[in-house]
Amino acid sequence: MQPLLDRLGRPLETLRISITDRCNFRCVYCMPKEVFGRDYAFLERRELLTFEELARVVGIFASFGVRTVRITGGEPLVRRNVERLVELLAAIEKPDGDRLELALTTNGSLLPQKADALAAAGLSRVTVSLDSLDDEAFRAMNDVDFPVQRVLEGIDAAASAGLPVKVNAVVKRGANDGDVLALAEHFRGSGHALRFIEYMDVGSTNGWRLEDVVSAEEIVRRISERWPLEAVAPERPDATALRWRYFDGAGEIGVVASVTQPFCGGCSRARLSAEGRLYTCLFAARGHDLRAPLRLGAPDEELAEQLRSIWTRRTDRYSELRTAETASVPKVEMSYIGG
Ligand code: SAM
Repeated sequence: MQPLLDRLGRPLETLRISITDRCNFRCVYCMPKEVFGRDYAFLERRELLTFEELARVVGIFASFGVRTVRITGGEPLVRRNVERLVELLAAIEKPDGDRLELALTTNGSLLPQKADALAAAGLSRVTVSLDSLDDEAFRAMNDVDFPVQRVLEGIDAAASAGLPVKVNAVVKRGANDGDVLALAEHFRGSGHALRFIEYMDVGSTNGWRLEDVVSAEEIVRRISERWPLEAVAPERPDATALRWRYFDGAGEIGVVASVTQPFCGGCSRARLSAEGRLYTCLFAARGHDLRAPLRLGAPDEELAEQLRSIWTRRTDRYSELRTAETASVPKVEMSYIGG
């Protein structure tokens, strides 16, 4: 099969699907309460792609060479019966006869109830977001007073269910940058890969400022002063995280440096919003509606043609072109498009 290439020669390999724009957390840098409050107009249920619609779209993506599907949101585990979706996606066969790699990004709060069912349904791995181990700081960041201990229990539940776990921590200066070493210490030697994420200018509601970004260089320097690190070569050309290994054999850390070391050159990711709009960049302002043709009964060939035409025209490389002006242009929210 010929890979589908965009205008910059990048193949389409990963699809991230947001299955809900709702979340049970109100992380201050992502869904601040002042914006996502009681009156916020979340999508109605009928506006969301159904699991069957999602499976159909994913099947078409798989025929174009997509290997990995990441289920995200919002908080994907607040959507009822999410394990049913995992089951449908796990049944999809790629052109080479193999199955898709199915990942899920979650705040971990519902993993204690869901981990076994997700693993049984065919999920390949899970990424849990956890920005601080300090209970007070964590409760303040999620802004719904959710205790950190319950997320740690979620991580344990996933591991017990046999799911490989990665832990993602967004670092925001003045909020949790003092927790970097404690996070590194906690996950060293745990078998769970820890990845720090530079605070990004996604969406338009988090009041992002460059001064709030803690660079990958600073994060790695701080950790390696305590536990020496050496760089590890990327596993794949479209890897999002730069990787380092502890000299003493206690595992690895990664940093997603999308602000200070953008990686648009290898970006093979497409994103589908919960209502079926396809975005070719996390920082895009506009998506392409796939739900209308789906619900109007378009055959697979027509949807495939639409997809081919969207991807082959793609030129996005927002992070490489980021300036103070572009950072203030309205963009779609992370909770809508999916992290
Ligand atoms: N609710 C799920 C979760 O908490 O992982 C999935 C959706 S959440 C939007 C996905 C990831 O995006 C989380 O790790 C979150 O911390 C991260 N995120 C949100 N806003 C961000 C920002 N401005 N910069 C960097 N990462 C951000």
